[in-house]
Amino acid sequence: MTLRGCLAWSSGFVYNFLRNDDRGDTGMEKRELVIVGAGPAGLTAAIYGRRAGLDVLLIEKGAAGGQINITEEIENWPGVQHATGPELGAMFRAHAEKFNTEFRDADVTKIEVRDGAKIVVTNKGEIEAEAVIVATGAYFRRLGCEGEAEHIGQGVSYCAVCDGAFFEDEEIAVVGGGNSAVEEGDYLTKFASKVYIIHRRDEFRADRAAVERALSNPKIVPVWNSVVEKIEGDGMVENLVLKNVKTGEISDLPVAGVFMFVGQAPHDEAVKGLLETTKGGWIKTNERMETSVEGIFAAGDLRDKSLRQVVTAAADGAIAAMSASSYIAEQVHLHSKLMEPEKVVALFFSSIDAGQAKLSGDVESAFERAGAAVVLVDGYKNARMVQKLGLTDLPVMIRIESGKIGEPKFLHHPGVLKTVPFDKEGGR
Ligand code: NAP
Repeated sequence: MTLRGCLAWSSGFVYNFLRNDDRGDTGMEKRELVIVGAGPAGLTAAIYGRRAGLDVLLIEKGAAGGQINITEEIENWPGVQHATGPELGAMFRAHAEKFNTEFRDADVTKIEVRDGAKIVVTNKGEIEAEAVIVATGAYFRRLGCEGEAEHIGQGVSYCAVCDGAFFEDEEIAVVGGGNSAVEEGDYLTKFASKVYIIHRRDEFRADRAAVERALSNPKIVPVWNSVVEKIEGDGMVENLVLKNVKTGEISDLPVAGVFMFVGQAPHDEAVKGLLETTKGGWIKTNERMETSVEGIFAAGDLRDKSLRQVVTAAADGAIAAMSASSYIAEQVHLHSKLMEPEKVVALFFSSIDAGQAKLSGDVESAFERAGAAVVLVDGYKNARMVQKLGLTDLPVMIRIESGKIGEPKFLHHPGVLKTVPFDKEGGR
């Protein structure tokens, strides 16, 4: 079996192994780290990526900042007791710029793995990346009631900061009971004369501080146990038809506008079908921000996580960048050690097994005594590679010769290895 054959189905690893030898110059732009999304997660990833010495391209669509740009008040970013979202977003961006991040305004339509290479497809061309961090964030979901779609921009809104000022001295409604609904409802009282917060239960899910502030605001009127059945209005929104979920009673609530804050959904358009997700489409990652596709990382609100905050998005971004940096370094190292030499013998072992760690030293000495060389690969840290090579057990030795890997030799009794298991030529 050839190494290429063995790995043909896999993603980044194969490509990174083979790119220098087997791919002609496609003329495609090639970058080390491409970050998609310029919210707190993407900008923090850029800062960390640049500090780690990576070539970083950050692709943003429109203004940088993501949802932070439509958040009026941020008072839980440590060290800054109060800032508006756009203020904090601008500081993040300036910080990423200070480290010479390259920004590009483009629409990423798709991220795909083509012949093992990670390709970021944009409306301005394709880019091949050693590693990609997807940090495209989340958006506010639509409620889905009758009349909603027709009135978007005509009184139905998903952004208080963007549209609040249109409702000076008007009565309006907010739908939802989470932090967004309660905090944005409070913010909207700067403009509106009255803000009804329509919630399907009889208590808000938002945190206590936000609830107390909203409920002590005389302009806020909670409407409990109620859902919006229909949005009515000839042109602009004029009336909401509400249903009390406890009594079944139907009532009218005349308002000039309604803001929907009924939860969020991930901006996963570019990676749909590529990455493993949970039911709601949230991207699954491990604690290193690795997704189900090697070399593609996810950070921030589009990730499956329990707390979607600026501070957690930034933390994700930092972790993702450091993971991407080690991934890229690992690929380069492994390529030069395993693929560039004509003949290689490699020992894959687990560094967390004391016996195998000792064995790796013994093997290296045994090869040295025989005048040969062996490449030691920590199979624990490179678990995906072990899996892709079909190595079912560790420790194991393999020989790679002219792109072909030989039969693996599983060392079931690591303590008894006394001689070099391959002819000494193999390691040269
Ligand atoms: P959320 O916490 O998921 O709340 C969504 C709200 O919408 C819930 O109250 C839910 O009702 C209601 N809802 C969902 N589907 C509905 C439907 N079909 N009809 C009527 N009501 C419906 O969403 P979020 O408020 O956007 O917050 C998302 C995340 O961001 C959370 O983790 C939140 O803590 C965080 N966040 C934090 C801050 C902050 O710390 N300053 C600000 C904003 C957001 P139920 O309660 O009955 O499920």
